[in-house]
Amino acid sequence: MSKGELALTDRVSRAGYFGWPMLVGIAWLACAVIALDLTQGADGIAAVWPSSGIFVAALLLMGPRDRVVTAAWVAVASMISNMWSGSSFLATTGYTVANLLEGYLVFALMGGKTGNSVTLERPLSTLRFAAAAIVGGCASALMAGLLSLNLSYAFLSSWASTVSLGMLIVTPVILFVANDPQDRRNLLSFRSAWTVTVVAILSIAAFGQADIPLLFLPVMAMALATTTMGLSGAAVALTVIAIIGSVLTAFNAGPVTLFFPSTEQQVLFFQVYLVALIASSMPLAILLAQREKGLAEVAETARLLEIAEHAAKVGHFRFCPQDSSARWSREALRICGFDEDAEPRFEDWLALHVSEDRGRVRAFILEASTHALPFAFESRIETPTGEIVHLDCRGEAEADEDGRVVELFGTILDVTERAETMQHLEIARAKAEREAAEVRMLAATDPLTGMPNRRCILANLAEAMDRSDLAGDPLTVAMVDIDYFKSVNDRFGHGVGDRVIKQIADILSEAAIDADTVGRIGGEEFLFVFPGRRAADLAVRCEAIRHRLSQQDWGQPLQVTLSIGLAELQPGWDDRDLLRAADEALYAAKHAGRDRHAVHAA
Ligand code: GH3
Ligand code: MG
Ligand code: MG
Repeated sequence: MSKGELALTDRVSRAGYFGWPMLVGIAWLACAVIALDLTQGADGIAAVWPSSGIFVAALLLMGPRDRVVTAAWVAVASMISNMWSGSSFLATTGYTVANLLEGYLVFALMGGKTGNSVTLERPLSTLRFAAAAIVGGCASALMAGLLSLNLSYAFLSSWASTVSLGMLIVTPVILFVANDPQDRRNLLSFRSAWTVTVVAILSIAAFGQADIPLLFLPVMAMALATTTMGLSGAAVALTVIAIIGSVLTAFNAGPVTLFFPSTEQQVLFFQVYLVALIASSMPLAILLAQREKGLAEVAETARLLEIAEHAAKVGHFRFCPQDSSARWSREALRICGFDEDAEPRFEDWLALHVSEDRGRVRAFILEASTHALPFAFESRIETPTGEIVHLDCRGEAEADEDGRVVELFGTILDVTERAETMQHLEIARAKAEREAAEVRMLAATDPLTGMPNRRCILANLAEAMDRSDLAGDPLTVAMVDIDYFKSVNDRFGHGVGDRVIKQIADILSEAAIDADTVGRIGGEEFLFVFPGRRAADLAVRCEAIRHRLSQQDWGQPLQVTLSIGLAELQPGWDDRDLLRAADEALYAAKHAGRDRHAVHAA
């Protein structure tokens, strides 16, 4: 149920006993009087009975309560019009019953529900309505004939065709106008006005003179109205032609009276003519209406797609590898910085890529279009305004029966924000990693000498002891202390003392080979860790260090010597035992006169 229909049904429901039901009654009466006055035949029946169409449309549009009220008004209108035209009370009553029944019958045949989609745009629905109108007309004729005691063939056929035509012509117009706001707008438009004018002029030309047979003009008018305004145009044109044709014929103006002298013949001709008009124009009108609806749906879908693409920052493209032509959605053009109405070729898009990415993107596309493969890649383009945009492109290849790729369809997603965030994260991560490494390094390094500090060398020792425990390898440590260092400070100052400590640290570090490590564990004390070595084997190394020291140029008249205490790990010892043993050996070396090494006797 469309919005317009709802609104109208709503209005109708609130109308009560007057309002719309009464208006329907008045319209019914007016049309009946005019039809009877203008097109009444010898049998007292009009050529077209628009009133029937008005009543059926009202029934189809109204709610249950308003239907009953409307029927009452229509009954009154029917009584008045038929009495006025000179029918007997009995016949008038019979006609009125027939008029009411025909309306209800068609209403029932169309489904019997308010707003029951009497969308005449659908061919089956139209056919159903046409059948219902004809059945309604015939049933009405039979009823009128029975009740007015006139069962002549002329009466029955004339009544049936009159009523059916009235419904076929008038009901669709009212339904279109009521149901579809678009149709309502169409009918009230300027285009509608001039279309009706042209239809009227052509109808007058056809029915207003008998010199030239121009009866084909209304057919053209119908075609014109149908093409410009669709289904509602056809309905309006038919109404205009029916009114003008019957009025002019009633005034003996046109060719109908010339060729068909008797009124019955005129009426019959006119009815057949109108039926032919309906039958010839409806298929075109329905097709046009369907096409218009289809186009509107496609346009709406395209509009929604565009909104969705814009919201998701994703566009799409189609690329034909054969001629390298490409089509882009508006959002795809926007993302790549092209003008909205630009039609860039695929090469233009490729050229936007930063040089590092261009070859890779070309290879992806070539691969996809050669082997009909799906593709997905990220790339960077530089828009004409110099902005770097990161794209995520993915899509599929469409191949013909021979497997030849006819088109690549792909999406372009603007991932600049994400890429930039990732870049920032990566920079921050690398910085944090650098800083952590620096902190780790600082935490393990002695600032004066740059060698491992106490914490670090003791950790090395613990590790070496674990490994030695596991593998059963020997492990030896050496405690090294500068002899009479206090006097160096005293004689040459703390600065020189520091430099001496640093130089000795360098010499000791050079002496640490393979898995050996050495660190500064106190003021002028150092600790060697010799994994896998026995204390006895290290005497040569100690001598070599002392010799190297004797060669050193201290930059001062200085003689610097070292005392070294060696201790080898014994079963059951922990690191404190081992260090204490090395300390004791060092003390022994000092005691024995310094400038020497001593080995702890386990
Ligand atoms: P010995 O070991 O041979 O018994 O005599 P020593 O003079 O080396 O003994 P002691 O342990 O008494 O003196 C160590 C001196 O080392 C004391 C301190 O002034 C000096 N010292 C400790 N750390 C530093 C340092 O970082 N820089 C300098 N310049 N001197 C330091
Ligand atoms: Mg010392
Ligand atoms: Mg000392």
